[in-house]
Amino acid sequence: MGRTSRKRRQKKKLNVKEIAEYEEDSLMHLKSWLLERNCSSVNNLVPFNFHITGRGLKTLKDIKPNDILIKLPYEILITTFTLSQSDISILFSKTEHYSAQCVLSVFVLYESHLGTVSKWYNYISSLPKYLTNPDFCTQKEKNLLPAFIRDYMYEFHKLQNEFQLLIRSVNNLSLHGKDYCPHCNLHLKKIITFEKYKWAYYIVNTRAVYIDEIQVEKSQNIPVNIKHQNNLALAPFLDLFNHSIYSTTRATVITLENGNKFYQITTLNSFKSESQVFINYGSHSSLKLYVHYGFFILNNPLDEIYFDISDIKICFNVPTFKLNFIISNNLQKNMAFTRDGLNYNAISTLFIIKTDLPKSCWSAKIYGNSFTLEDIASVHNLAKQILSLKKVELINHLIKMRSFNHCTQSFSIAISLIEEYITILDESYNNFYKSH
Ligand SMILES: [Zn+2]
Repeated sequence: MGRTSRKRRQKKKLNVKEIAEYEEDSLMHLKSWLLERNCSSVNNLVPFNFHITGRGLKTLKDIKPNDILIKLPYEILITTFTLSQSDISILFSKTEHYSAQCVLSVFVLYESHLGTVSKWYNYISSLPKYLTNPDFCTQKEKNLLPAFIRDYMYEFHKLQNEFQLLIRSVNNLSLHGKDYCPHCNLHLKKIITFEKYKWAYYIVNTRAVYIDEIQVEKSQNIPVNIKHQNNLALAPFLDLFNHSIYSTTRATVITLENGNKFYQITTLNSFKSESQVFINYGSHSSLKLYVHYGFFILNNPLDEIYFDISDIKICFNVPTFKLNFIISNNLQKNMAFTRDGLNYNAISTLFIIKTDLPKSCWSAKIYGNSFTLEDIASVHNLAKQILSLKKVELINHLIKMRSFNHCTQSFSIAISLIEEYITILDESYNNFYKSH
């Protein structure tokens, strides 16, 4: 796709989150709260509704490479240690192990329940009430999501398991008459509901940053057994930065001579005064961004549309000796269409299927990168049929998904993602012709 058309497409506005009026106040309170705690770095950053990205942060001064974007005192970060100061730490049984994400989720959920009494009220009240990860689609909508979204989501987000662990713990507390909230005497099962846990879980998932495990555990007695790594932290205000794959940032925990610790983000980019400042959440494809963060960006160069042997078999007859070679060389894994055409495994697999050369020549062709223009042209000829198959599949999904009249915002992002996937297939197809 040419530069002009790329520019034209960038004007398309995705279903983005904007700052609602009721949120404006909470964001201003959060900023004042941080300024009172010596976070002067937030002084030049203001929450702003941008045309393309929706809610983001605007800088009021020019930013140069290696400038510090934000510097938060370590005590402002919410880690598993922070939980020990909360009454809800009684929920974590000494005989069980919990993920850091589960612990932070319970913390957010409980502090949210405390309302203005919470020490973290200014941060908690700045958090969005609604999230847009695919898990927030209704059950009917989830049934209509393509398998590649649904399977990926369930592979990573197994909320039920740890929630059951928490409920078991409440049942154990009831044996000692401790299953009521110390602050309002409400039964803990009324506070820790699955819906609220899910909200808090995704609040943590979309916002937590990674910090060195040693920094969390040093000098601190964490009352909960944490499984895997204890390296998650919530960093107030930081979650207002939007993601750009073109930005580069460096996150560090620094300790001053007087012992004071800070978590800081340095940018390697420059930003003009009055423009939006971006950070980088990682090298994520649109699918990953949607499943983990509840949004995606257009024209993401990391997107790939996968196909597998069963798709190939629908289009062509593959002799067993060729199939065996493909599988023994692991070429069938992650075959994909990219914006530029086909990835390496897809080219290699389709070459094997197409070639008349004796088997003894195959490895040299594939691993010696010695494909001729004719080889590539014939590979693309096969690929076109698979591409049509995948495109029809996506269009069928789209037709069913669009037939929903009142869908959640999360579901409408899924619809946009499918539209983007169809665009990628079209770009891929156009590049077949350009390359020979
Ligand atoms: Zn309470």
